[in-house]
Amino acid sequence: MEIVAVPAFSDNYIWLVHDDESGETAVVDPGDAAPVLTEAERRGWTIGQVWNTHWHPDHTGGNLALKQATGARISGPARESIAGRDVALEEGGEVRIGRHVGRVIEVPGHTLGHIALIFDEERVAFVGDTLFAMGCGRLYEGTPEQMYRSLQRLSQLPGDTRVYCAHEYTLSNALFAAHAEPDNGAIADRLELVKSMRDAGQITVPTTVSQERETNPFVRSTNEQEFARRRAAKDSFRS
Ligand SMILES: [Zn+2]
Repeated sequence: MEIVAVPAFSDNYIWLVHDDESGETAVVDPGDAAPVLTEAERRGWTIGQVWNTHWHPDHTGGNLALKQATGARISGPARESIAGRDVALEEGGEVRIGRHVGRVIEVPGHTLGHIALIFDEERVAFVGDTLFAMGCGRLYEGTPEQMYRSLQRLSQLPGDTRVYCAHEYTLSNALFAAHAEPDNGAIADRLELVKSMRDAGQITVPTTVSQERETNPFVRSTNEQEFARRRAAKDSFRS
């Protein structure tokens, strides 16, 4: 399973997923169709599926154009209104590309129906706007309790699971993380690494579950109350 980042808007990543064996290609959270179609064409890949993690337009805005251009089948969260959805996904469901199977888990918090796709065998997770490198999504619809539980579920995946989130927010997240846990050496080290990667124009995603356990102040919150305090502090944090 090959996974390619397609940058969109100012800081979104749309993920192109290709299985060489079957020749199938899927796209995760296409906020915009044009850059995805261009990248797929450049690689000689034909998009057959769209997988959405949640309804926000910067994740679904390209759904209908992609469907029109390719006939792609659209799978998205059952509990949300998803443009062009053909398949409704809920806890315990799955997506497939070739012989690879992605398990659906519900991770409410950023939105109420938000889902993540977990490819256990491949150690890959598509998490949308739930877990970010050193951060987490804003609570637009859910409660701190819901998001805390969602992050706990994701952080209990095997440590070498690669986490594909949908935004390049790592530098601002790292600055907050260093503020939230000033004595955490792993956070300080990662902040320096992220600064140099961004200066060099590199992307900082995917991350891994084990990196997040060590450096993500939201994953590291010891209870819901601490998580809620940190999330509120990040909302008003200016680096
Ligand atoms: Zn979102």
